[in-house]
Amino acid sequence: MQIIDGKAVSLAVKTDVRDAIAKAGIEPCLAVILVGNDPASRVYVNNKKKACAFCGIRSLEYALPEETTQEELLDLIDKLNRDPAVNGILCQLPVPGQISEKEVIAKIDPKKDVDCFHNENVGRLWTGSYRILPCTPAGVMALLDHYHIDPAGKHCVIVGRSNIVGKPMAALMLARNATVTICHSHTADLKAQCLQADILVAAVGKAKFITADMVKDGAVVLDVGINRNDDGKLCGDVDFEKVKDKVSWITPVPGGCGPMTIAVLMQNTLTAYKIQTKTL
Ligand code: NAP
Repeated sequence: MQIIDGKAVSLAVKTDVRDAIAKAGIEPCLAVILVGNDPASRVYVNNKKKACAFCGIRSLEYALPEETTQEELLDLIDKLNRDPAVNGILCQLPVPGQISEKEVIAKIDPKKDVDCFHNENVGRLWTGSYRILPCTPAGVMALLDHYHIDPAGKHCVIVGRSNIVGKPMAALMLARNATVTICHSHTADLKAQCLQADILVAAVGKAKFITADMVKDGAVVLDVGINRNDDGKLCGDVDFEKVKDKVSWITPVPGGCGPMTIAVLMQNTLTAYKIQTKTL
């Protein structure tokens, strides 16, 4: 078994972004919107700002109160869309109940949609004409590339079909010529499906959900889940201790897929800058 080191690979990706920005003598700008007081969202936003500082990306933070109306938020996005100094716009999800996530995503200019959530970018993803990448799935692909694990011809089983992870993960795996199965809560005999996987991606959100009897010998296991165990410690969706001895490669949690998401966000902000300045 070999460990896929997401911390090291994410640092390499961020360093490449930093070097490209320094070499070009530019300063891309990312606007991050946070609505409300969710502590986990605050941690994510702070980490994104730190990564921006590392890469030489200017970050603007808009921290709005919990009671912000949808109209107020959409007005802010409209203003940022029209501001040529802003290259990327990200609204940290989830947003409070009075605001429609769909409306927020639809409002962001697709050229500034560094999360790759807008329908235009999702369409581009599935038709193979993408430039901005879905952050978490693209981070998984970057890990595979770093370790020269080629998905072509392999059977990739993805557990989870969210718009943020499972579905775009399938699109990227297909684009790289894997044969893809997507599983979800209605999948009959999940264990049999998972046992087919040469590459197994877990994006469920349940601690120790993928057990050793669900994993084929020699499989590559990519654990996207971020959960807390009974002791309050971070853990993934895979029962790491029991699964690790069966597999060829595996991501730990923390330090696997997690750090890659922000690294791709930095890449996307640079790409958005290039799209807007027509230098791509
Ligand atoms: P989500 O929207 O809750 O989706 C979970 C998926 O798991 C759904 O498609 C659901 O199926 C499926 N599922 C639930 N129970 C199942 C079962 N018993 N059998 C088979 N499938 C089942 O979650 P998400 O946003 O994709 O996130 C998944 C995990 O990744 C979470 O732990 C999240 O924290 C983590 N995450 C990490 C990053 C990162 O690394 N930076 C980014 C995003 C998410 P249905 O569709 O049928 O309900």
